[in-house]
Amino acid sequence: MQNADYDAIIVGAGPAGATATLYARRSGLRVLLLDRSDFPRDKTCGDALSGKTVDVLKDLGLIDQVRLLPGAPISRIIFGSPDGSELVINLNTSELNQIPEGFVIRREVFDRFMFDQAIEAAADVKTGFSVTDLVIEDGFVRGVKGRQAGSPDVQTHRAPIVLGADGFNSIVARKTGLYSHDPSHMVVALRQYFQDVGGLTDQIELHFIDEVIPGYFWIFPLEDGKANVGIGMLHKAIKKQGTDLKQALANAIASPRFRDRFKDARPLEDPVGWNLPVGSKHYPAVGDGFMLLGDAAGLIDPFTGEGIGNALYSARYAIETAAAALQADDFSAGFLARYDKALWKAIGPELRISSQLQKIGRWRWLLNFVIARAARKKRLGNLIAGMIANEVPRDQLANPLFYLRLLFS
Ligand SMILES: Cc1cc2nc3c(=O)[nH]c(=O)nc-3n(C[C@H](O)[C@H](O)[C@H](O)COP(=O)(O)OP(=O)(O)OC[C@H]3O[C@@H](n4cnc5c(N)ncnc54)[C@H](O)[C@@H]3O)c2cc1C
Repeated sequence: MQNADYDAIIVGAGPAGATATLYARRSGLRVLLLDRSDFPRDKTCGDALSGKTVDVLKDLGLIDQVRLLPGAPISRIIFGSPDGSELVINLNTSELNQIPEGFVIRREVFDRFMFDQAIEAAADVKTGFSVTDLVIEDGFVRGVKGRQAGSPDVQTHRAPIVLGADGFNSIVARKTGLYSHDPSHMVVALRQYFQDVGGLTDQIELHFIDEVIPGYFWIFPLEDGKANVGIGMLHKAIKKQGTDLKQALANAIASPRFRDRFKDARPLEDPVGWNLPVGSKHYPAVGDGFMLLGDAAGLIDPFTGEGIGNALYSARYAIETAAAALQADDFSAGFLARYDKALWKAIGPELRISSQLQKIGRWRWLLNFVIARAARKKRLGNLIAGMIANEVPRDQLANPLFYLRLLFS
């Protein structure tokens, strides 16, 4: 391609964009990284980093530094049922070959860390730069247009590939006609940081409470007695049931089950909300000259609400394809489709299971039954730990009989 300033332009320097920049350096690509914010910046999130994120951080040689960031290491996960029974998954089980690691680190801290690494890896970085449009020629995306904060001038940057890592409201998805958010495949969630919630240890807690079925109330520990507390629910159900999420969060905190733990707690902010495009639907993620990554591609786990791990995976696969496209000098949707294929081969089975689990989450009695039964079965707890550690073969995960046998054996 003629007149290209860079090999690729990455729009958005959140987890997906920063990670893509790091993989781009490994592949020898010259990239321009753009973000409309200046870092550090907050991102509404549960702040939980699980096995997949840790996998990629290890691959990038960053895990030792991440372990030192302020936050909380996680070794247990609690699933609470509507009637109050609890399934505790211990990640430190001796039956696993490799103990999975997890952390809760505020996004203001984690994203800044990743961004700082990305600065070193990019050919150029611009923050405070909002992408407002794409350069499209002969049907191919060939670059971006945008403005630096405080300046009326439109700047144009050109590259044969544009990676849209620009989150839920992706301008790249909008301008290419791929932006479509279906309330059946979208969760809305609120986060509120607290100081001095009782009973915080090394566990993250997901409680499936009556107020927000299908959805859950979470309590995640942070550094220095802080906690990330929040609530989320399927958008379609919010509309149908007329749920006021802010009220639901307040009710959960004041409920007999949790109020003791909040009696000395102090909110550090008003609840803040944002949307989670979940991967219970496979959205198209490529076109001529562009690929969508992370939330822009709607890759969040529909059951757990985790999106960072899949955002990082998408970055790795997108850069593999970008490097191959540059080599082949082919930036057509047909060629770039290999990104979508490789990504969904890796994360599709898990997303399909999570979509099924999200459906179970619509039935209060079924949640009560499954969580109470699983809590009594050590083998099932170990299996879930194995799933989190990526040690359970994918074909087993995709077979519903496998779960039935475990639950009823
Ligand atoms: C309430 C809530 C709780 C969650 N909890 C968890 C959790 O505990 N664990 C987990 O793994 N996931 C969680 N998620 C999901 C997670 O937050 C996302 O999946 C993750 O942020 C996706 O990363 P990303 O890089 O794709 O997008 P983002 O993090 O949204 O980053 C996009 C970046 O693009 C920039 N940008 C956007 N538009 C433009 C533009 N026009 N020009 C230039 N820059 C632009 C933004 O400034 C931003 O920095 C949660 C989400 C919500 C809403």
